[in-house]
Amino acid sequence: MDLFASLTEITDRASAAIGVTDLAPYPDEADRIRDRVSRGLHGGLSFTYANPDMATNPEKSFPWASSIVVVTVPYLTDGDGATGTRTVARFADGDRYDGLRAVLADVASMLDGAGHRTEIVFDDNRLMDRAVAIRAGVGWSGKSTMVLTPGAGPWILIGSVVTEALLEPTEPMARSCGTCDACIPACPTKAIIAPGVLDARRCISAVLQRRGVIDRDIRTLIGGRIYGCDDCLTACPPGQPAMRPLEATDDALDPSYILSLSDDELGPIVEHWYVPSRRMRFVRRNALIALGNTGGESSLGLLASYIGHPDALLGVHAAWSVGRVGGVAATAICEAALERVSDETVRAELAAAVAASRRGGVYAGETSAASLTDPEENAR
Ligand code: SF4
Ligand code: SF4
Repeated sequence: MDLFASLTEITDRASAAIGVTDLAPYPDEADRIRDRVSRGLHGGLSFTYANPDMATNPEKSFPWASSIVVVTVPYLTDGDGATGTRTVARFADGDRYDGLRAVLADVASMLDGAGHRTEIVFDDNRLMDRAVAIRAGVGWSGKSTMVLTPGAGPWILIGSVVTEALLEPTEPMARSCGTCDACIPACPTKAIIAPGVLDARRCISAVLQRRGVIDRDIRTLIGGRIYGCDDCLTACPPGQPAMRPLEATDDALDPSYILSLSDDELGPIVEHWYVPSRRMRFVRRNALIALGNTGGESSLGLLASYIGHPDALLGVHAAWSVGRVGGVAATAICEAALERVSDETVRAELAAAVAASRRGGVYAGETSAASLTDPEENAR
């Protein structure tokens, strides 16, 4: 049995897909990244945007290697197809990467055993997971910008084993989304601005991973989400077979619970999330927005306790959330806070919150939240 056939046995056992590509560069991807950065569509995210030359030139990062073995592993389990209250996207509610890590380790181990140097790479600025997956033929490029695979659609994790073994490249997949465009209207923020083009400034998943103040017009659309967004995935027909609605559990992470924890308590709960500099203030910021959108009057006490927080980032979002809850009690909280809060950024948000709470929690753009910045974070 040749080496690739042996590797396929490993991936078959894990219901994973496997393909092989070489280390040739991706000039079209590099152009696309630069275009998105120049148009601001990257939304300040770094990842592959930070260094397009490195991300699209695997042969520069791995000069010793001859092949990239690409693996996609489905990550949904029974119950993931159920609708219901979710505050965390499915890929992040637990360590869904265990399966991918295990397959990659087995693939690397077999190659190592055959005498070939290997390196496991995923979520790494040196390699564009999506680009190598498409070139290796393990999936196709969806209009949602996700890689789609037969059977699991977009519900997959992608990883690679870069190796000095010279393996025959597999062919790109002859498949496309065709006439489907279901993900585009399904996006709550209209972040998919054209087929295959994402405006990360509006993508909830990206926004919740960013530093700083979140724009006010996006906050309402975030709804109860604290981390990630699955709407364009759940709308995707090729992913439907993977969404098994069995044994649904209602164990959504509660934003009030997050807001009651210390950093030490919160850290392990969000261990698998991308949190800038591992600073829990960003998780709390997201929880404040989610609680404002979903908590109702019973959450006012907790939200109000954050308005005078020494971290103005939290004060701003708490003020917004009180206004979002709206009503007489919310108005009174904001007016009282205006008497004692001196931070100008928080005060501006409180003024907007008073107006919104008088309208029953409806913001109508009284001041531009985009002008509210967080100098500490934006300077980095
Ligand atoms: S993750 Fe959510 S916000 Fe982002 S493109 Fe998909 S549906 Fe839109
Ligand atoms: S929803 Fe339709 S158009 Fe969007 S990625 Fe899935 S198959 Fe493609």
